[in-house]
Amino acid sequence: MNTQYLIRLDDACPTMDAVKWDALESVLDESGIKPLVAVVPDNKDSMLEIDGYDPAFWGRVLDWQKKGWTIAMHGFQHLFHPIERKRLLMPFYDHSEFAGLSEQEQAKKIRNSWQLFLDRGIEPTVWIAPAHCFDLGTLRALRAETPIRIVNDGIACKQFYEHGLYWIPQQLWALSRKPFGLWTVCLHPNSMTMKQIEAFRDKLTSDIFRSRIISMGDVYLRKRKRSLLDRAYSVWFWQRDGIFRALYLLRNRLGASVWEKLPFCSLV
Ligand SMILES: [Zn+2]
Repeated sequence: MNTQYLIRLDDACPTMDAVKWDALESVLDESGIKPLVAVVPDNKDSMLEIDGYDPAFWGRVLDWQKKGWTIAMHGFQHLFHPIERKRLLMPFYDHSEFAGLSEQEQAKKIRNSWQLFLDRGIEPTVWIAPAHCFDLGTLRALRAETPIRIVNDGIACKQFYEHGLYWIPQQLWALSRKPFGLWTVCLHPNSMTMKQIEAFRDKLTSDIFRSRIISMGDVYLRKRKRSLLDRAYSVWFWQRDGIFRALYLLRNRLGASVWEKLPFCSLV
């Protein structure tokens, strides 16, 4: 069966780590790969303040758009408030920029974000929530305030349609061989080492992956419901996530010296 991979780069903003982004951009250009880029339009997250403010940043986003990279709206300011994980559609963390706020508040953030993009001549076509954390109110606000109808998130094997939006699943954080399906590989260039970027280049150009990497424009969007297999994979994904969380907690409680003597310590 056919396997396809999309490459996604998170947390582009005027204070991103330019050296890492330059390196990764060269790697992708060498292979002619057009990724999806999650751009924060008005970053206020100090974790993403790595370099000084780059006044040429938005010109760079326009250049990405011109060469066929897909620009995604990555929230508004990348600032989080605490929220119970069970209230999220994708319960990865217990914080969110959007979930839990009133629909009016969420709509205002999305409206402001959309306007900032428009002011720079950019129309994002995909929604990527900071930290994957959002709720149904976020999606309603997104539909009301923007023409964006694609979400890059969700745990499934293929593209699906839910809540009036096309979902392109995002399930990987490194290129890893899969027997079939559509897989988005989410990378965070700001926190990658140069060694990791080199390793990524090696994988990218290998026979296993190169011909299977597509761009957003290659994804055929269908109003497809999630299949039984998609749902089974999602159950497995979240069960495994729960086990890993429990192991992390155990490691923190036991301390590194005790933990390293356990036979399964290399799993976490
Ligand atoms: Zn982010």
